[in-house]
Amino acid sequence: MPLVVRPSRIHAVGVFTTTPIRKGARVVEYAGPRITPEEADRLYDGAPRTYLYGLEDGKTVIDGEGLGAYLNHSCDPNCEVDEIKGRVWIFALRNIAAGEELVWDYNLYDDEEPAPCHCGSPKCRGTMYSREWMARVRRREARRKKSSDVEKPPRRHARSKNPAQGWEKEGRNAEPYPLR
Ligand SMILES: [Zn+2]
Repeated sequence: MPLVVRPSRIHAVGVFTTTPIRKGARVVEYAGPRITPEEADRLYDGAPRTYLYGLEDGKTVIDGEGLGAYLNHSCDPNCEVDEIKGRVWIFALRNIAAGEELVWDYNLYDDEEPAPCHCGSPKCRGTMYSREWMARVRRREARRKKSSDVEKPPRRHARSKNPAQGWEKEGRNAEPYPLR
């Protein structure tokens, strides 16, 4: 698939297609070394931008590299990711015209550092975190206000297909949270 990296309106540079892409087409792999969440924590503690992608097993994170990891986020995406037998691919959500930037919804999770979105879409939710994660953060904040517990948030965020995903261990006061 002829893809190029060019300056992007959304963020610094993005990945663009030079030819039309048909809906459903497999566009590019989200490739990179496989590491554990613990390694991701160690490598990227406090990093402002990472290319981590959490697999569905909750135990594996792709440390993304190459074109597949460089797609920008949008709240109104033209691509989606899918995990097939442990590999992650980017697929076209709709027909995409030559010259369009390829974007997908990162659904970030597992961090509380701000990740404001500047995708410019009328559907923009203002953050690259998933709605589910933001709801979880709000619940946790409400809980903190009620108690004197100091719960240190993890300092790393990863992208995910599954917006409800999270690999952190919950404390004993944690409320039940559906992972699936
Ligand atoms: Zn947005």
